[in-house]
Amino acid sequence: MSGLNDIAVLGSGPAALSIAAACTERGASVTLVAPEPEAPWQPNYCLWADEVSPRMEHLTERLWPQASVVTALGSRVLERPYVKLDTQELQRFLWGALRAGSVRITSSRAAALDHRGTESRIRTDDGTILRARVVIDASGARSPFIKRTHRRAPAFQTAFGLMLRAPGHGFDPNRMVLMDFCPASRQDPDPPSFLYVLPMGDDRLFIEETSLARRPAMRLSVLRARLEARLASLGLQHCERIDEEHCSIAMGLGLPTPEQALVPFGAAAAMVHPASGYLVSRVLRKADPVAASIVESLVSGDASLAIASGNATLWPRQERAVWELYTFGLETLVGMTATEIGCFFDSFFRLPQNGWSGFLGGTLSRSELAAVMTRLFGTLPASVRWHLVRTGLSAGAAPLARSVLQPGLT
Ligand SMILES: Cc1cc2nc3c(=O)[nH]c(=O)nc-3n(C[C@H](O)[C@H](O)[C@H](O)COP(=O)(O)OP(=O)(O)OC[C@H]3O[C@@H](n4cnc5c(N)ncnc54)[C@H](O)[C@@H]3O)c2cc1C
Repeated sequence: MSGLNDIAVLGSGPAALSIAAACTERGASVTLVAPEPEAPWQPNYCLWADEVSPRMEHLTERLWPQASVVTALGSRVLERPYVKLDTQELQRFLWGALRAGSVRITSSRAAALDHRGTESRIRTDDGTILRARVVIDASGARSPFIKRTHRRAPAFQTAFGLMLRAPGHGFDPNRMVLMDFCPASRQDPDPPSFLYVLPMGDDRLFIEETSLARRPAMRLSVLRARLEARLASLGLQHCERIDEEHCSIAMGLGLPTPEQALVPFGAAAAMVHPASGYLVSRVLRKADPVAASIVESLVSGDASLAIASGNATLWPRQERAVWELYTFGLETLVGMTATEIGCFFDSFFRLPQNGWSGFLGGTLSRSELAAVMTRLFGTLPASVRWHLVRTGLSAGAAPLARSVLQPGLT
């Protein structure tokens, strides 16, 4: 059995390393428990440039001054810079910050947790027992250790992407394509998907076919076939394929209940944006305040207080209400047809920039979000409004009504 550490962090993804580093920076002793702690991350992590904090600006691999959105109703240019982080540099940076403090690494999987008031015990899959005063679970969307407000099956955003060597690819190197909903072929009975493109200079291109949230998940084979059709229509089918990305993001997981014997973080804590699938900016923004609340409470000596304080900072009551509204947004997207989705996003990106960017960033207050959704509703064609009303009367109605009607929240 190990000695007693302040904090055990489960996982070694972006959420785990961010929160673990934020805890060691505040002087806590941390045990990081993950099956392959130093396995290189694969995803191309992107976010809006205004979401990157000054201390991480040097991790930017590429910045596009503009983004574009294309639907059957036309195309729009968004004057909001978008950034791809250098995945390896991000991982190295967080490891550097973590190692500057007191950390112990355990290369195994947490198999069982036992909470005993002043400490928790983690049994790993090789039978070792680790002891910590507080467990932070950042082991991803499939964590079995978290109590949730609901157990509805998640929806999945899936994507199939390729990094191409494509000299003269024809895309503007200063503009990434956030969503292009115009399909290469219109005779496809499967649900709609969109193209996402990152021009990596004049000779490389990351190009990905992505589904919106679907339940059940859209098959990768369909996305792959659609991407091949797109490449053929762009004349890029013979380009060298440098890398392949397969993506499956669980969305709309139930929020963790406020009373837990641990602190969840990252995808495990349902922090993935229910409508867009983005997580990285939220994880980077929340790691410091959540770590501070846990470590400061531990200094006063009480593990239960530290856990309660971490959970309250992670999901304050107002943000829970806002997230339920977002989850309503997710439920509406899940069932839309291609035409409805085109209309929806065309109207969405016609909103004032602070409206759509606040919505995507998950930074709006409950009243701001309700105002954005009401304004959007007013601009949508009747068929899409009818879809929203039908959805509102089924799965999303209860949380939506609770969120909107609950007094005292801003
Ligand atoms: C291909 C892809 C591209 C994405 N692109 C973006 C993007 O551009 N922007 C964005 O904001 N989001 C993006 N996302 C969404 C999101 O940011 C990622 O899913 C992110 O990796 C989630 O981070 P996480 O640390 O919470 O979980 P994960 O990255 O899933 O990490 C979970 C960790 O827990 C470990 N683990 C699992 N079980 C156990 C256990 N029992 N005990 C201990 N450890 C365990 C795993 O080994 C892993 O280290 C993308 C996702 C994917 C899949």
